[in-house]
Amino acid sequence: MTTTTIRTTCDSCQLTFDVPSTAIVLALPAPTADAAVEPSFVHICPSCLACDSTPVPWRTATYLLDAGATAFTAPDLDQIQPRYPEHRPDSTRPMSLDDLIDLYAALDSDARVL
Ligand SMILES: [Zn+2]
Repeated sequence: MTTTTIRTTCDSCQLTFDVPSTAIVLALPAPTADAAVEPSFVHICPSCLACDSTPVPWRTATYLLDAGATAFTAPDLDQIQPRYPEHRPDSTRPMSLDDLIDLYAALDSDARVL
């Protein structure tokens, strides 16, 4: 049985090293990403321990997956971005001392429920 390896060069210290396919991690683009976005080969340099990623063509990624590489898929950015209410609460004046006291009372009553 032959072990597939990929040869890469560290961007930080310029060391060229081989990574066995079973130790390769591929970062696949989100399913909704632009079709032009390619997978990335994530690697850690054995000399300087810098973590780097290098884009690889889909064909190479498929071959590496078949040879035992691990893959994870990037999340869909639309699903992980925080959603804010469309309208902020109506507030035409700055917070007053009475508002602050009411806020503390409301927070305190929530804390007692828990
Ligand atoms: Zn390095």
